[in-house]
Amino acid sequence: MPLTFQVLGQPGRDNALFVKVDTGQSQTRLLFDCGDGCPHQVGPAELREVDHLCFSHLHMDHVSGFDLFFRLNFDRTAKGNRIWVPHGSGEVIHHRLRGFMWNLVDDKQEGEWLVCEIAPEAIRTARFLPKEGFRTAYAQPELPRPNRTIIRADGFTVDAMLLDHGTPSVGYLVREADRVNVDTAKLAAKGFKPGPWLKRLRGPVAAPGETIEIGSVAYPLGVLQAELLVTTPGDSIAYLTDFRLTPATANELVPWLRGVNTVVCESQYRAADTALAAKVMHSTAEEVASMAANAAIGRLILFHFSDRYDANARREMLRDARAIFPSTTLPDGW
Ligand SMILES: [Zn+2]
Ligand SMILES: [Zn+2]
Repeated sequence: MPLTFQVLGQPGRDNALFVKVDTGQSQTRLLFDCGDGCPHQVGPAELREVDHLCFSHLHMDHVSGFDLFFRLNFDRTAKGNRIWVPHGSGEVIHHRLRGFMWNLVDDKQEGEWLVCEIAPEAIRTARFLPKEGFRTAYAQPELPRPNRTIIRADGFTVDAMLLDHGTPSVGYLVREADRVNVDTAKLAAKGFKPGPWLKRLRGPVAAPGETIEIGSVAYPLGVLQAELLVTTPGDSIAYLTDFRLTPATANELVPWLRGVNTVVCESQYRAADTALAAKVMHSTAEEVASMAANAAIGRLILFHFSDRYDANARREMLRDARAIFPSTTLPDGW
């Protein structure tokens, strides 16, 4: 599986999401939020390999597990250390980085941390150095954000949408690029032997009249690409938590999420408690299910339930959501 994930935490407690993207050439690990006990479920070996820590927002129940992640990685130089937060929140991360005594840190060490604030139309990054005990926030040139994409990597992208939780809360969407494979049965039927030419076959679309040599015979590349290549749509997963799903927000979310395979979405309250959900800027299971139905997503995974509900109440919320969007589940083991 090129895209795997694990919902972290317990029902009614802090939660997070761990996503691994495996393109065949490289693996990228993304951790969404860091609630109490959540990084512990990932384990130290995987945490040391996390490429991006993406916070929805910095309420305590999404940050309380950060120290374990930071303890394992504070002096990491093997890969970049990058944290994403909603705009206006970088200072909170700076305080977290500064919240230890750093007198014994190696002043020759070359590690760095980049804390990126996601604003509506820009990304604002500050750089911090472990050898300085993270004292100074070095402002980096602001990057424009002409669309929702914040990470454009080989084989996948990550988009971000700012949601309203009384404070900005970032919804994230990981999209694997479409996969292009060679149909080996058709290849064999044509009597072609696999070789380095397959790399060009799978590469960019043929130019008009372009040919490719196979066993010293030239073939029209465009024709072979049409005959031998199979394109499979890439996998996709969205992480949406801590936001009020108003009709206006649904209008923005539905086209963005259209056709997404998996949406992991908060379900803090049941429909009977909609007034409470509105007051504390959360969403109900039924509101979320309606959004999922309108966006025609593959499956909805409800998580981040309020601790006011017991297991029976959560099952009722699942039932209510399924009445609206049948492909709704809870995380494995809940
Ligand atoms: Zn929360
Ligand atoms: Zn919150």
